[in-house]
Amino acid sequence: MRRAVFLDRDGVLNRNVWNSATEAYESPLTPEQFELLPKVVPALKLLRDAGYLLFLVSNQPNHAKGKADMEVLEEIHRKFEMLLTAEGIVFSDYYYCFHHPNFTGACRCRKPSPYFLFEARDRFDVDLAQSWMIGDRVSDIACGRAAGTRTIGISPMTQSQTGADCIADDLWRAAQIITCYERASIPDVLAAST
Ligand SMILES: [Mg+2]
Ligand SMILES: [Zn+2]
Repeated sequence: MRRAVFLDRDGVLNRNVWNSATEAYESPLTPEQFELLPKVVPALKLLRDAGYLLFLVSNQPNHAKGKADMEVLEEIHRKFEMLLTAEGIVFSDYYYCFHHPNFTGACRCRKPSPYFLFEARDRFDVDLAQSWMIGDRVSDIACGRAAGTRTIGISPMTQSQTGADCIADDLWRAAQIITCYERASIPDVLAAST
């Protein structure tokens, strides 16, 4: 069986973008707005080189909400994939939920549903108990917990808010926690990171 890291996208791999209409940081709405966060590339290489399969697990409801054309969301994905390919990073699969319960009704794949993690388990022979989910929202952590993975929340999220196993400042720190865990128990890693 293989180990995997399941990654949320917005706020973990790429910057959220300020939307003045809603006065909130949100998913990019154009390819130009899509920008990888610092040290994401070395973090993904660290995880890849440690033998983890990489999967994207992302809720993208902006088409369902009428805020973006599907073609634009696909263009944004192509830019993301191109940036990774240029660095020699290959994701085993990209799992997107394009639904939203208020607009398209209930679906089986929207986080916190663990649906996509189970799909990866069945298709790629992933050992979920030896795998990790990384995200910046409560729904990401709930998704990982429901699937039986270990979980890392990206701050400012706190451990008590989410029940995440660990909190990290960014993906680079999360990748270090995961690779350190190979050689130590979680409490040792946490002690070393504070
Ligand atoms: Mg996010
Ligand atoms: Zn869905």
